[in-house]
Amino acid sequence: MAVAGIPILENLYPATMDMWPIEAKEFNRIWPFYENLKQGRFTTTKCKNCGHVAYPPRVICPNCYSENLEYIDLPKKGKVIVFSEEVRGVPLGFESPLIHAVVDLGVDPVRRLLTRIVNCPAGVLKRGDEVQLSVFEIPAIPVEKGKAGTIMAERVFFAFEPVKK
Ligand SMILES: [Zn+2]
Repeated sequence: MAVAGIPILENLYPATMDMWPIEAKEFNRIWPFYENLKQGRFTTTKCKNCGHVAYPPRVICPNCYSENLEYIDLPKKGKVIVFSEEVRGVPLGFESPLIHAVVDLGVDPVRRLLTRIVNCPAGVLKRGDEVQLSVFEIPAIPVEKGKAGTIMAERVFFAFEPVKK
């Protein structure tokens, strides 16, 4: 299995260098977040007890400690408030430019979030630019599935990308 940007690790499974979450239900209590992402939905948890919305998604409400949570949809578009661009010396596994931005989703309660910006050349992004959710595949990971044996669990992750003008 190839790991993007790390030629020496091509066709190896570098478990200790895997920087992505294990998203399978058996290992991750916020697995619905990733299942929703696979369907193009950007979601987080809302407490059914007190109504508190948390981002990133939680398994326990940080306000009232209830475990009675539901997933709600968040906006998939926002505006760049501030950003950083790393062009040289980006960490292993990332491509240059590595861009991070604080994005304003425009509505409460999850108004601002820090995210990576992808599909954007260096020097192009500006403050105020409109960006949208971008869901992409990341390397699958072997997961023990009881009698089914080891299966390769498909995974996705998200970033935002500039909205084409
Ligand atoms: Zn609560």
